[in-house]
Amino acid sequence: MAKQIQEFLGMDEKKDKPQSKVYYLDDILDKDPTLYCPNCDSCKIQLLHTHNEDGYDYQCNKCKFLYEIILCNRGDDF
Ligand SMILES: [Zn+2]
Repeated sequence: MAKQIQEFLGMDEKKDKPQSKVYYLDDILDKDPTLYCPNCDSCKIQLLHTHNEDGYDYQCNKCKFLYEIILCNRGDDF
């Protein structure tokens, strides 16, 4: 059976592309996302200095999960 080019190159889309997610103030999480990674529960969180005017960008040092906390509710207009 024919393969995709990325299989020959040994590229795994999930592994090579860091996952990312946006959270809003009305999202409900088990743990504080400023202290624990919402993806793997690691506490090695880095606050990225990306000059995001709408919120804060974080990245987990362990699983490289990238996430953004937007300081408004999902239904609000920007
Ligand atoms: Zn993580």
